[in-house]
Amino acid sequence: MSSYKSLKEECYEANMELPKLDLVIYTFGNVSAVDREKGVFAIKPSGVPYEVLKPEDIVILDFDNKVIEGNMRPSSDTKTHAFLYKEWTEIGGIAHTHATYSVSWAQAQRDIPIFGTTHADHLTADIPCAPPMSDELIQGDYEHVTGQQILDCFSDKGINYKEVEMVLLGNHGPFTWGKNAAKAVYNSKVLEELARMAYLTLQINPNAPRLKDALINKHYERKHGKNAYYGQN
Ligand SMILES: [Zn+2]
Repeated sequence: MSSYKSLKEECYEANMELPKLDLVIYTFGNVSAVDREKGVFAIKPSGVPYEVLKPEDIVILDFDNKVIEGNMRPSSDTKTHAFLYKEWTEIGGIAHTHATYSVSWAQAQRDIPIFGTTHADHLTADIPCAPPMSDELIQGDYEHVTGQQILDCFSDKGINYKEVEMVLLGNHGPFTWGKNAAKAVYNSKVLEELARMAYLTLQINPNAPRLKDALINKHYERKHGKNAYYGQN
């Protein structure tokens, strides 16, 4: 029996959430889950529709993209996942979708402004959009450089990946992460909903103001702060 059975199952379950949550169609999207102790991650195989995907199809790789276990070719975005796991040592799962509203903001190359308390319940910053990469980079090791593009965006804007667990890649779409694969998928759905709300807000009032700092802090702190009182203990 595979020693990666539970990791493959975690990865499989998280991938299967994407179509259920209306975040993907056909073979779009991919989720991975990491096992830090073993130094490996599990990811969806490339081009396999969700209806026929099985836990045993999930591919196991190390952070240098070497296949450790699995008969199928891993997701074409695998190198981006490997890069982020290597650089950001406290993330446990990564999700990538082509969800409509998230992609629309990415294609418009716009950060998603923080307009309301729904956004502030999850993060206190605008959701960053990384600029499209140069022609030279596109010709190179594309998926690896995509990881670098995300990293550069966070360092340029001075954002911490543990506070903002999502990014838009200009002209492409969203990547999200979290403490495990399920949280990464959760963040993809939250991002899609925030992207939709922000889009509608600007339709109703193109000059809608950004949320006030006092409300940003209040909403974030009551859910995530030292004295959080949202939910049940
Ligand atoms: Zn993609």
